[in-house]
Order: sequence, then C-alpha cells, then structure tokens
Amino acid sequence: MAPTKNRTLQILNAAAAGKYGVLAAIAYNVEQLTGLVRAAESRRSPLIIQLFPSTLKQLPTLAYAAAQAVKSATVPISLHIDHAQDEDHIREIMKTLPVDSIMVDMSHYDEKENLEKTRVLAKECHERGIAVEAESGRINGGEEGIADTGDLEALFTTEEDVESFISASIDILAPSIGNLHGDYPPSGPSLHYDRLESINAQVNNRVHIALHGTNDFSEETLQRCIRSGAIKLNVNKLLLEPWNVLMREKSGELPLVRLIDEGMDVLQKETEKWMDVCGSSGKA
Ligand SMILES: [Zn+2]
Repeated sequence: MAPTKNRTLQILNAAAAGKYGVLAAIAYNVEQLTGLVRAAESRRSPLIIQLFPSTLKQLPTLAYAAAQAVKSATVPISLHIDHAQDEDHIREIMKTLPVDSIMVDMSHYDEKENLEKTRVLAKECHERGIAVEAESGRINGGEEGIADTGDLEALFTTEEDVESFISASIDILAPSIGNLHGDYPPSGPSLHYDRLESINAQVNNRVHIALHGTNDFSEETLQRCIRSGAIKLNVNKLLLEPWNVLMREKSGELPLVRLIDEGMDVLQKETEKWMDVCGSSGKA
C-alpha cells in the first residue's frame, strides 16, 4: 500500500503489514465513544470509530467529540461514517465534518448505478482527503442505523465485482460472503471463507477488505475472517451487548452518573477482549 496521510488508511496499512485485524466499532453516544477510546488506550491498540449517518442527525455534536478523541488519543484512531446511503447527506458530511473515511453505500441501487454513483462520490471524497469504503454484491439484513434490505436478494461478491469496484477508485471493499447485518439465525453465521480468501488473493493489496455483519461471532470466527484477509472488522452489537444488558437491568436501580460509569466500564472491558482476539493489542 502506498504511504498516505489518511488516518483510516494508515491504520489499515499497518494492520495489513502486521497481519492483524482492527475493530471498526459503532458508537451511538458519547459514553460509548469514551469506553471505546479508553480500551484503545489501555490496550495500546489502533481503533476505527464508526458513526451512522442517522446518529449524525440525532446527535449533531457527536462527530466533533469523536474527532477530538481522535486528535487527543495517544494511539492511532480514526473517524469513519458507516453506511452513508444518501448522496446529499454524503456531500454534506464530506464538506462539513472532520471525518477520515466514509462508507459510500449505494448497494440499494442496481450494480451499474451503484458503481457509477460510487465512482463520482469517491472522487469528491478523495479531493478532500477522505478515504472511501464501498459494498460489492449486497449484504442483507438490517441493524439499528442501517436501512433493512430484507426483501432484496442477497448477492455474493464476484470476481467481476471486485475489479469494477477497484476501478471505481475505492480504498476499502466490503464483500458479501454470506455475512448478514443484524442477528444470524440460531444455527449461527455460515460464511464462505473460500470466497473471502479468493477475493483477498485477487485484491492483492490494491484495497483493504472490511467485514460487515459480525453479530454473534465467536472468537474463532472473527480470527478465521482475519486469516482469510478481512482486516477492518465492523462491530456493533458484538461489543455493545454487555452495555445493552446493563442498561436493561440497572437503569431503574442505579443513579444516572453511576450507570454511565458502569456502562463505560463494561464496554471498555468487552472492547479490550476483542482487541486481543483481533491481535491489535500492543500494536499502537
Ligand atoms: Zn455494514
């Protein structure tokens, strides 16, 4: 990978060279943001903080808090906007917010339109020094913050998709290999590792590979994805579930300030555990 000033790409270049994975973790509020950053500091691990476009609208100052965390951290952290699906909003984000990278998600359009829109938006992002992720094929399902693609047909990423998206000048590719947004069926995820491996061989370091849809993953599953070439691991409920459980169980019981403290503590602990699983602990 070529040297870059972009924080997200610096983090991923180092991970690719060192053969470990990096958590790209969703935060919905400032406590979660703080818990994630504390984990990165305590584990000396790189981290990508992700905000959904819906969160930017709900909490307009959160992106600035995240950008400040990126700036003041003593480990490499970057700010990424996940699943930006609205072209006008993407343009507003790139012009007004201090973000390092954006997932330009046009996967709800047909392939040709998806590619064309991605190409145009990628050029505009690059002019501002912002790196771009895109989804090839279609990853089905929905989670809090992402439109549900439930009635669209899941499409696995093909060799042709990979070349088309690389030619659209993206930096990070999110392939569809049997991964799903939201929860997996009780039988658990059934991922096509062989497809991920062949995509990785085909990509050959021209772009980085992001894995979406990690709810319910075991440690082994996450590590197998990293070994197969995915180095940006998008995580949401995988880290946040202990926080959710605490809120459900203790919110009527603890004073607010204690609840906030305990919430940040459980999220920090869970994040530290998954940084160890990814192999990113001690790499910053
Ligand atoms: Zn996703």
